[in-house]
Amino acid sequence: MQLLDGKLLSANIKAELAAEVEQMQRSGERPPHLVAVLVGENPASQVYVASKIRSCAEVGFKSTLIQRDANLSEAELLEIVAQLNDDPEVDGILVQLPLPKHIREENITLAIDHRKDVDGFHPVNIGRMTQGLAAYLPATPYGIMEMLRRYNVETAGKHCVVVGRSNIVGTPMSILLSRKGYPGDCTVTLTHSRTQNLAEEVRRADIIVAAIGIPEFVKGDWVKPGAVVIDVGINRIEDATRKSGQRLVGDVEFEGASKNCSYITPVPGGVGLMTVTALLMNTLKARKGEVY
Ligand code: NAD
Repeated sequence: MQLLDGKLLSANIKAELAAEVEQMQRSGERPPHLVAVLVGENPASQVYVASKIRSCAEVGFKSTLIQRDANLSEAELLEIVAQLNDDPEVDGILVQLPLPKHIREENITLAIDHRKDVDGFHPVNIGRMTQGLAAYLPATPYGIMEMLRRYNVETAGKHCVVVGRSNIVGTPMSILLSRKGYPGDCTVTLTHSRTQNLAEEVRRADIIVAAIGIPEFVKGDWVKPGAVVIDVGINRIEDATRKSGQRLVGDVEFEGASKNCSYITPVPGGVGLMTVTALLMNTLKARKGEVY
């Protein structure tokens, strides 16, 4: 069994991005600029946004954080987005989700100029991704594809079972892995909460992508010998042996799965770190105008 090491890979990719930014600046160009908008005080969102801003600094990107109270109106948020859309010095815009209940997220997603949609949530980008055109890929699936590519994991003709069909992880993963080319050319089964005999479906998989949000939901004995396991889940569970009283686990029973699989992503240290790195890759593409 080999770990798919998100920590190592993201450090390598960040070094590549930093070198490219240095080169840009040497030629007198401005560095990529990401603007993050955070509405309200959701603690998880604060942690995620802080990590994105920190990562920008690590690679030499400019970043701006716009913070507003939870009582910001939808119209006011749309106005902020409109200004960022029009600002030629802003390459990428991300509005951290979830938003307070009175703001309709789909209206905000649709309002972001798709050429600055570095989260890859705009329907134009989803459509372009589906057709294999230049697009911002949603960050988590993009990070996973990069992991498979950089570890040379074989995908052509493999049977991939994706568990979970969210718009940001499961569904785009199923599209990307079934697309022509590498990494892709898989035969994909997309499973979800209404799937029957889920364990049997997973047992047939050469590649498992678990994105459910239930701690250790995929059992070790569901993993076929030699299968590749991509664990997207990030779940906090109680653990009295830890100082904090809790620890992070994925959606896969790591110990059992690692006995059977060929490759596995650890939690933490796997897909999560690649997600932030993928956002940086998208922001560099935005600066270079690669998605139009
Ligand atoms: P979501 O809640 O939007 O979707 C969960 C999916 O799981 C749904 O499609 C649902 O049909 C399916 N599901 C729920 N119960 C099921 C069951 N009993 N059997 C089969 N399928 C079932 O979740 P999400 O946003 O895709 O996130 C999934 C997990 O990934 C969460 O733990 C989340 O924290 C984590 N996540 C991690 C990253 C990262 O960067 N590593 C990014 C996004 C999400």
